[in-house]
Amino acid sequence: MAILLEGRHIAEKVKEDIRLKVLSLKIRPSLASLMVGDNSGAVSYVKSQAKAAEELGVEYQIHKLSSSSSQEDIIGFVRKLNNDKSVNGIIIQNPLPEKIDYKAVSFSMDPEKDIEGVHPANIAGIITGRAKFIPCTAYAVMELISASGINLYGKEAVIVGHSSIVGKPLVFLLLDKLATVTICHIGTSQAGKLEDHIRRAEVLVVAVGKANLIKGEWIKEGAVVIDVGINRVNGKIVGDVEFSAAEKKAAFITPVPGGVGPLTVAMLMRNLVEAARLQQG
Ligand code: NDP
Repeated sequence: MAILLEGRHIAEKVKEDIRLKVLSLKIRPSLASLMVGDNSGAVSYVKSQAKAAEELGVEYQIHKLSSSSSQEDIIGFVRKLNNDKSVNGIIIQNPLPEKIDYKAVSFSMDPEKDIEGVHPANIAGIITGRAKFIPCTAYAVMELISASGINLYGKEAVIVGHSSIVGKPLVFLLLDKLATVTICHIGTSQAGKLEDHIRRAEVLVVAVGKANLIKGEWIKEGAVVIDVGINRVNGKIVGDVEFSAAEKKAAFITPVPGGVGPLTVAMLMRNLVEAARLQQG
């Protein structure tokens, strides 16, 4: 039976380290969170970010713009935050209203304050192995893999899902540790090749958003399985991996909920504290 990789416990250790770093700074780190319109999808994230900020002694500012704001208005506001010396990190809460181009808005952030690691300058840092800020979910996945104690050198690492916040950055983060990396996506599934890739994965990361896409019997004996997916099925939250069958084969597996999720906010705060450290000179 697999050992559970519980994000909550690991997050506590990460937070302990962050608290010490905050105490060693000359400034109190401050995070500006920008919401546009009703944005009900972001409410639970904002709550957990505000709670973590309070626990860690960092400032959390919530800025709300009206849903009628134009893209120029929003970009203008982001530039104000860029120029505000009391702000060390910025988060643009998703989703934005449909007419707004998220990329245009997020690319207007000062990369030094982009603690979600979505600006092209930070993406380039991941590719070149010099990242200042790693996207929080991918960062949480790396922390969980590290908690398993596995040495990634030469391991078969398979990622399912190629989004820019999870799958794509993970390719480079795992490659940096000299794992042999394969990335699967809808094309892999439609070509009927997903199962073959999963069966040889020594480290498997799944970030799709389809309940039970990955069958437990496909999991390689002794694998490390990180399930990023969040799906609501009959009122319950489940991941993308068929958990009960997978835990019988894996050596380590993340529960859903309680795996990746609790760790992402801790990684965001780690990025914020790093931003403050760099900005204080
Ligand atoms: P996206 O929708 O951006 O990406 C999903 C990816 O899965 C795409 O690359 C898509 O490929 C691929 N995909 C879709 N169907 C299949 C299939 N049948 N077989 C293989 N690949 C497939 O999602 P995100 O990366 O934003 O999120 C993924 C999941 O992770 C969601 O459930 C989300 O809720 C969860 N999540 C959890 C977080 C946490 O903190 N725990 C944080 C962020 C996300 P294509 O685009 O080519 O169709």
